[in-house]
Amino acid sequence: MIAVIKKGTTQEQMDVLVQWLATQNIEVHISQGHNYTVLGLIGDTTHVDMDLIESLDIVESVKKVSEPFKQCSKKFHPDDTVVDVNGMKIGGGHFQLIAGPCSVESKDQIISVAESVKASGAGILRGGAFKPRTSPYDFQGLKSVGLDLLLEAKRATGMPIVTEIMNTEHLPLFEQVDIIQVGARNMQNFELLKALGHTNKPILLKRGLANTMKELLMSAEYIMASGNPNIILCERGIRTYETYTRNTLDLSAVPMLKELSHLPVVVDPSHATGSSKLVKPMALAAAAAGADGLMIEVHNDPLHAWCDGAQSLTPEQFADVAEKVRKIREIL
Ligand code: PEP
Ligand code: MN
Repeated sequence: MIAVIKKGTTQEQMDVLVQWLATQNIEVHISQGHNYTVLGLIGDTTHVDMDLIESLDIVESVKKVSEPFKQCSKKFHPDDTVVDVNGMKIGGGHFQLIAGPCSVESKDQIISVAESVKASGAGILRGGAFKPRTSPYDFQGLKSVGLDLLLEAKRATGMPIVTEIMNTEHLPLFEQVDIIQVGARNMQNFELLKALGHTNKPILLKRGLANTMKELLMSAEYIMASGNPNIILCERGIRTYETYTRNTLDLSAVPMLKELSHLPVVVDPSHATGSSKLVKPMALAAAAAGADGLMIEVHNDPLHAWCDGAQSLTPEQFADVAEKVRKIREIL
């Protein structure tokens, strides 16, 4: 349930209502918008007298919210969330290019890719240190050594970094990581989501291979319900019957998620397609669909990449995509 509060309501008047709701075991999430304030009522609202609340002088309207997600709902928080990553903003009109290799492989590799993608306009560096691989015999990432190399690249270029966490026990290693990524395979690892909710780090939450948008938003809700509102949603393709592409990029998720939620939405055309030649058209389409950013895999030598070479762009190809994305955004 949400209550829209009239403009000009004093803090004291609002406190009286919030305290009364607390006596009904209702927690209140306050969202201060430009034009109005919205109170999100969290808890069992079935016994709350809607008419009584609506009759109050300070209340403009009361609405039932049917969606199971509350804090990430646009109804609870009408203004877009802007996630600030060391001054790099995503959401609410701010667009970011996130680029880098699938996996961190060496100091030279990560620093050279970081420098080239930064020169082409990427604001945030990606790189996997802990890799979720389908086969236990495949390269599993350089782990904490990879994290150290990413931090070196951060110091060398000044770029904030994003990298994936797979285990709550690894959280202390992520202290200096700017955005913690929850990969597709962990989207419903609820203990991990709760633990990340107790941090104040921006979280890049990827949609699971076979998860609905509602399930993605419920996972974001887990993080928010534990106290962390800094979430970036990521559409990275879903499993369908199609086999020519690694996954099927669900671009309709961009406008749909942005209608349902105030959280920024970025698109990963690399994992969505699995093919470097499909990355550019899908990146442009995602920008045209209103994405708040793109996450693209870039490797200095895709042919010899330890992971996901087939979908990695060269730095030159990335520069071309970045320029065309800028043009699409100018038209928008
Ligand atoms: C990744 O971004 O490195 C990754 C493994 O992606 P996903 O979780 O979307 O498969
Ligand atoms: Mn990858």
